[in-house]
Amino acid sequence: MRIHHLNCGTDCPFGGALFDGFSKGPVGKLVCAAQLIETDGGLVLVDTGYGMQDVEQPSRLPAFFRSALNIQLRREETALFQVEALGFKASDVRHIVLTHLDFDHAGGIEDFPEARVHVTAIEKDLAERHRRGFINARRYQPVQFDAVRDWRTYQVGGEGWFGFEAVRALDGLPPEILMVPLPGHTLRHAGVAINTGSGWLLNAVDVYLSGARWICAGRTARRGWRVYQHQHRLRELTRLQGGAVTVMCSHDPKELETLQARAA
Ligand SMILES: [Zn+2]
Repeated sequence: MRIHHLNCGTDCPFGGALFDGFSKGPVGKLVCAAQLIETDGGLVLVDTGYGMQDVEQPSRLPAFFRSALNIQLRREETALFQVEALGFKASDVRHIVLTHLDFDHAGGIEDFPEARVHVTAIEKDLAERHRRGFINARRYQPVQFDAVRDWRTYQVGGEGWFGFEAVRALDGLPPEILMVPLPGHTLRHAGVAINTGSGWLLNAVDVYLSGARWICAGRTARRGWRVYQHQHRLRELTRLQGGAVTVMCSHDPKELETLQARAA
């Protein structure tokens, strides 16, 4: 399996190094990492960042986060643009595995109308029907995913992965790709583990915001504690497994650069 590490969105929030751990000025830099995986059964996309419709119609995105995150919408950063630049067609993307349905991960879903979309059942239910409170009413934008024709939803449980709960046997996907639920950031936020053939890559999504800072992304004390526990376990995992498991997050530009250089 060949993995392309894409950046499908850039945010430049005011707060600089508070967000990314390295910016010198008042403005930070966050990316929206996505993996495009070439498999025997077609292309698999893990998360989608911002999509073409977000670029064309920014009001699809919540005004509060558009300004708080200082979102930079660029056509060339959409997954669709990058898939086509690699010489593929949108219809070659057969599967999208979603870590969760936040607007900065779900924006590109409908650019691939023929894809089967995989997500945990609770996350989909929350995003569609339980949008109470200031943050939940804004983080989920059903307009980004209400036209999906082929959902596959999963209950959590079953055989684990390095001591973590896991969802294996994603419908139509090879066993090298599985979900690793890491609840906290959203209630059913899930990482995605990929067996690259030369070790595991775990996309831990929003369990931390930056490799330099390991900022806790939990919103309440209880959720923050769960996120902290995940961070602790992930550090232990990388320590105990040495080079056999690489852990990454969604929004750290330096981590993404390292993975892109390694893949090249
Ligand atoms: Zn995120």
